[in-house]
Amino acid sequence: MADTEEKWRGSAESIQYKPGKGVFLGLLGVTSFVMVAAGFFFWYVPTIGLGNIHPALPYVLGALLLGVALFIVLGAVFITVAALRGAFIFRSSFRGLLVKFFLPIMLMVGGFLKIPRIKIEQAFIDINNQMVRLMGRRFRPEKLLILMPHCIQYDNCRIKVTRDVKNCAGCGRCEIGGLLTLSDEFGITLFISTGGTVARRKVYEERPDAVIAVACERDLTSGLQDAYPLPVIAIVNKRPRGYCMETGVAIEEVRQAILDLVGPGRLSRGGAAHART
Ligand code: SF4
Repeated sequence: MADTEEKWRGSAESIQYKPGKGVFLGLLGVTSFVMVAAGFFFWYVPTIGLGNIHPALPYVLGALLLGVALFIVLGAVFITVAALRGAFIFRSSFRGLLVKFFLPIMLMVGGFLKIPRIKIEQAFIDINNQMVRLMGRRFRPEKLLILMPHCIQYDNCRIKVTRDVKNCAGCGRCEIGGLLTLSDEFGITLFISTGGTVARRKVYEERPDAVIAVACERDLTSGLQDAYPLPVIAIVNKRPRGYCMETGVAIEEVRQAILDLVGPGRLSRGGAAHART
């Protein structure tokens, strides 16, 4: 691993994958506070007009906004607990709040505070993965899908793996051969995608129960948002030559993601039966 990192020649952004949960969780707190303060503002301003219509209306609106504020604050607390302690109190309930509600606002607030977007995305991916694992759901291997970007392929390889990954000769010049072996071992569909739209179409066609996706932070973040509520374990690629060219992935990370989703003991029952002939 250390050797690999030393060989990398990508930008500084492409080399490090050390999600800073502190920044993300701090931003989560700031975002929650801003949302609650905005809720108070939107309650207070129309209070006078509503009071003229009926004296009870300001209290009705207040109770509604208080309920929303409580949900936001509790959501932020549970996400923080999941991130820090590996505990997930209400199972998957708050992953949607993180993916659909907090993340877009946090990216906006982060942009305003000049926090590098990639750091927010890295931490988001890490916490998302933790939440998916904590859901504790187990999936049949044939209902999983592994999505890889085509930039993982060795640049001079002439084999068309985007049409059928089984065309790969397994020469070892890139990680597609190793991934194919892994997909055969477990009986999981492996798809090499030429882009985000093609990947989304594949998910739509295959209708998997869960996905393991490898890409850069930006693509993973937008993919996670689009795919929700589908459980996705996202793995950030390696970029020794920068973005979009001869990228890589730690095969062991993919294997671990498979094991987390299928659970122990699945391979012996299903994996061998699906082995490539
Ligand atoms: S491992 Fe497969 S895809 Fe990669 S260079 Fe070799 S034949 Fe081509």
